[in-house]
Amino acid sequence: MLPQVGGARDRRGSRAAGGPARGGCSRAPNGRGRSLSPSEVAYPVPTVRTCVGCKSSGSPQDLVRLVVGPEGEVVADLAGGAFGRGAWVHPRTVCLEGAVKGGLSRGLKTKVTADPLQVTSTLREAAVRRTYSLLQAAERARLATVGTAALEDAERDDRVELLVLARDAKASADLSAVRRLGERGRVRFFKTKAELGAVFGRDELALVGLLSPDLAKEVSRMISVSELEEPGRAHRVTEVG
Ligand SMILES: [Zn+2]
Repeated sequence: MLPQVGGARDRRGSRAAGGPARGGCSRAPNGRGRSLSPSEVAYPVPTVRTCVGCKSSGSPQDLVRLVVGPEGEVVADLAGGAFGRGAWVHPRTVCLEGAVKGGLSRGLKTKVTADPLQVTSTLREAAVRRTYSLLQAAERARLATVGTAALEDAERDDRVELLVLARDAKASADLSAVRRLGERGRVRFFKTKAELGAVFGRDELALVGLLSPDLAKEVSRMISVSELEEPGRAHRVTEVG
């Protein structure tokens, strides 16, 4: 058994080693060592992206896309599909600072006029907007529970992937269903009851439960980006609540 496994690995290894040497292309983003045709370049399927701040690579889920406008202004493209000259960066202060101080302009060969503080607040605001629209989309697709009774039902059936809880929802935080979700790491605090309510046309809303793993993952990611620490305020605690 073992020699066979080793042999198979050796054969794969020699193929993989031979590929890039024959292809001779160092620009292939997926490491398969093959030149991209023009149509593939125009319609990329991203598997790995490089952060222009720290130059390490990661999956697109771990990075955010920034687009630089004609005046050098930086716009957040959190859905990853906007037109324009874009570059990817880890949503953390040190990488954003590296990106704004040079990585972004080098990577895109364009002038960047924004400063780290502006880029951070642009990202944070875009993340809040995207969180709101994801919550609305989830409700329209019936992949969200809005309010306490619906959440308790869904929690009983173990269907809640993530609970978005208003920071001022003191009474709801004491519900046993909410406590159980919290113990499983499935609660994220976000905004206030009034702000969450406005998203759903209500005066107040304490909690929204998300029933889709993909949506839960993306909302959690956006909430993290919305909590990005501002540059120069390193003493502040990043994770609140
Ligand atoms: Zn980085």
